[in-house]
Amino acid sequence: MFKKILIANRGEIACRVMETAKRLGIKTVAVYSDADAGSKHVAMADEAYRIGPAPVAESYLKIDKIIEICQKSGAEAVHPGYGFLSENPNFVDALDRAGITFIGPSANSIRAMGLKDAAKALMEKAGVPVVPGYHRETQDAGFLKIQAGKIGYPVLIKARAGGGGKGMRRVDHPDEFMSALSSAQREGEASFGDGRVLIEKYVAKPRHIEIQVFGDKHGNAVHLFERDCSLQRRHQKVIEEAPAPGMPEDMRKAMGEAAVKAAQAIDYAGAGTIEFIVDVSEGLRADRFYFMEMNTRLQVEHPVTEMITGEDLVEWQLLVASGKPLPKMQDEITFSGHAFEARLYAEDAPKGFLPAIGTLTHLNLPETLARVDSGVRPGDEISPYYDPMIAKVIVHGQTREAALGKLLASLEATEVAGCVTNAGFLAALCRHEGFAAGDVDTGLIDRDLQSLISEPDMPEDALALAALTALGLTHPAKSDDPFDTLAGWRIWSASRQFALLEIGGERRDVEVQVLGEKRFSVHVGEQPATYSLIAIEGPKITFEREGGRTSAVVVQTGSELTVFLNGHAFTATLPDIMTADDDGCEAGDQIIAPMPGLVKVLSAKAGEAVKKDQPLVILEAMKMEHTLKAPRDGIIAEVMANAGEQVLDGTVLLALETENETAS
Ligand code: ADP
Ligand code: ADP
Ligand code: MG
Repeated sequence: MFKKILIANRGEIACRVMETAKRLGIKTVAVYSDADAGSKHVAMADEAYRIGPAPVAESYLKIDKIIEICQKSGAEAVHPGYGFLSENPNFVDALDRAGITFIGPSANSIRAMGLKDAAKALMEKAGVPVVPGYHRETQDAGFLKIQAGKIGYPVLIKARAGGGGKGMRRVDHPDEFMSALSSAQREGEASFGDGRVLIEKYVAKPRHIEIQVFGDKHGNAVHLFERDCSLQRRHQKVIEEAPAPGMPEDMRKAMGEAAVKAAQAIDYAGAGTIEFIVDVSEGLRADRFYFMEMNTRLQVEHPVTEMITGEDLVEWQLLVASGKPLPKMQDEITFSGHAFEARLYAEDAPKGFLPAIGTLTHLNLPETLARVDSGVRPGDEISPYYDPMIAKVIVHGQTREAALGKLLASLEATEVAGCVTNAGFLAALCRHEGFAAGDVDTGLIDRDLQSLISEPDMPEDALALAALTALGLTHPAKSDDPFDTLAGWRIWSASRQFALLEIGGERRDVEVQVLGEKRFSVHVGEQPATYSLIAIEGPKITFEREGGRTSAVVVQTGSELTVFLNGHAFTATLPDIMTADDDGCEAGDQIIAPMPGLVKVLSAKAGEAVKKDQPLVILEAMKMEHTLKAPRDGIIAEVMANAGEQVLDGTVLLALETENETAS
C-alpha cells in the first residue's frame, strides 16, 4: 500500500478521499489554488502546496505543476477525484512517465471510453446493448438528418465529447433538426473542443440507471449493483438512490452482467460506472436497458453504493491501484436497505437555478441524522470559480420509505445562511408523491417544476422573530450598561416601535410593543399576538405564542435576516432607507453581471444599434451559461468588459446610449 498520496482535487471529494487515506494510515498531500488557500481540504491534509491562481486552467488542471509537487513531496500516487483531470488520459501518461501511480484506470481504458460514439461502437462489438442511433464518422449535416429520420423522432443529438449534461439537444420534428444540430456542434466545440456528434433515439419515459463496476490489475471485474439517478434537471443529477426502486431481480442480474462485460472489454482496473438509459414506458424490463456511456472515475454519487454494500470505494481504489486484487469477488458482495444522496448546491432554484456565491455565515449540516460529505466549514466562501456544491447529504434506511423520511428530516434540519441554497427544492422533491412512490423518470422534475420551486409565504412567527431581531430585542446587549440591557424595554410605559422589513420584494412595517422583560406584542396577523422569549442560545430562539412553544434559528448576515423555522428557511432584508440605489445609473441603460462569472461571448461593439432582447453577452458561472439580453432598443454607448474576462457581480458590462442621445 502507498505511504503518501497526492489528491489532485478540491472541495468535498478531496476531503472524502483524505478521510479514507487517514483511516488507512496513508499520508496526504493537498494542492490548492489562491482561492482555496484557507479551505477545508488544505487544513485536512498532512502537507499542502499552492499550484496557482484561482482559474482551473491555471491551477487544478496544471499537469506539470502537479507532477512537480508529487516529486517534491514524495507522493507515490495521485487520486484525481472527479471532474478536473480525472478522465484525462494525457495526465495518466505524464504520471506514468514520471513513475507516479494514477489511482484510476489506464490511459488506454480512458481513451476507449472518452468519446461517446467510439465507446458505443466498442460496446456493440462486445455484445452490450446500446441506445439505438447513429454513432459513426460521417458528419455531413444532410447525411445526419437522414440518419435522424431513419432512427425516428424524437431524437437526441449529443456532442460525442460531451459531459456534465452539456452539448445535448432533443429534436422532436425534422424541421428543428438543422438548428439543433448546429447548436449542439457549437456547444461541443466551445466546451470540449470537439464539434462532432452522435444521434440517439430519444428513449420514451427514460430512467437513468447505472452500475458501479470495479476491476483490478489481475483481470478480475465485479459490479456493486445499481444506482438510480433519474431525478435530473437539464440532464444533471439532483437526487440519487440505490438500489433502483422496483428493480426486478432478472433485470438487476442482466444489467450487472452487461456492465462487467463492458469493463472487461477494456481491461478495466479501478472504479468505473456504466451508465444505462432504461425505457420504462412498459415498466422495468430486462430487455429495455441500453448503454449510454462509461465514466472512468469515481462518481459523485458513489456514497449511495457504499451505504447499501458497506464497502469503502476509495479504499478499493487505493488497494487496486497499489496492485492488490479486488477485496471481494462477485458472490461476496451483497447489499441491504436503501440509500439516497441529495446534492446541496449554492443556487437559487426559484430564479432559474442561478448559481450563487457568498460567505457561509451560518452552516449547520445535518451530521447527526445523515452522512454529510462536504468541503466547506462555517465561515468558508462559495467562490465563483468552481462547482457551487456545499455538501452531499447521504442517508440509509432499512426500507426506501424509511430512508426517504430520513433524507427529508436531514434537509429540513439543514441551515445555511449567507448564501442561497437548493435545500428547499430538495426537500420539496422528498415530499413529491410520485417520487415517494418510486415512480421516477428523467422528466419528473421538469413536469412539476413550478410546485417544486414555489416557496411558502413567510409565516407570522418567522416574521415576528425577524422584526424582534431587526429591532435588537432578541439578543442581550454586549455591555454592562443598565440602559443597554434594557434595550427598548421601559418599565414605565409599553413602548411602540416599528420594524421595517423587505420580504419577497415587498415592504412590511411590523409594529412591536414591549410588554415586559422578553415579552412583546407583535402585530403580524390580523390582531397583535403576544410573544415570550423563553431561551436564547446563540442564534437559536425558543419562544412561546399563545401557549405553544417553538424554536427557531435567526441569523443576520449584513442586511439580511434568515429565519429557520419548521424545516424552512425564510429571508427578510432590512431596507436601508438612507442609501439610494448605488448603481448610479438607470438599470435600463446597462447590462450588469447578475452574478460573478466569466464573460464567454460579448457580441456587441460601441456604436452598434441593438434590438430589445437581442442576446449581447454570454456569462458563464460555474457550470452554466447565462445569456444577457438588451433591455431595450438602442445604441451601444460603451463596452466595459472583454470576452474571456472574469467579472464580479454588479459589474457593468455594456451601456446603452440614453434615450435622448439615441433620439438626437
Ligand atoms: P456524475 O455523473 O458523477 O455526477 P458529472 O459528469 O455530472 O458526473 O460531473 C462530475 C464532475 O465533473 C462534477 O464535479 C462536474 O462539476 C464536473 N464536470 C463534468 N462535466 C463538466 C463540464 N462539462 N464542465 C465542467 N465541469 C464538469
Ligand atoms: P453526460 O456525459 O453529459 O453525462 P449522458 O450521455 O450520460 O451525458 O446523458 C446525460 C443524461 O441525458 C442522461 O442521464 C439522461 O437523463 C439523458 N439522456 C441521455 N441519452 C438519452 C436518450 N437516448 N434518451 C433519453 N434521455 C437521454
Ligand atoms: Mg452521463
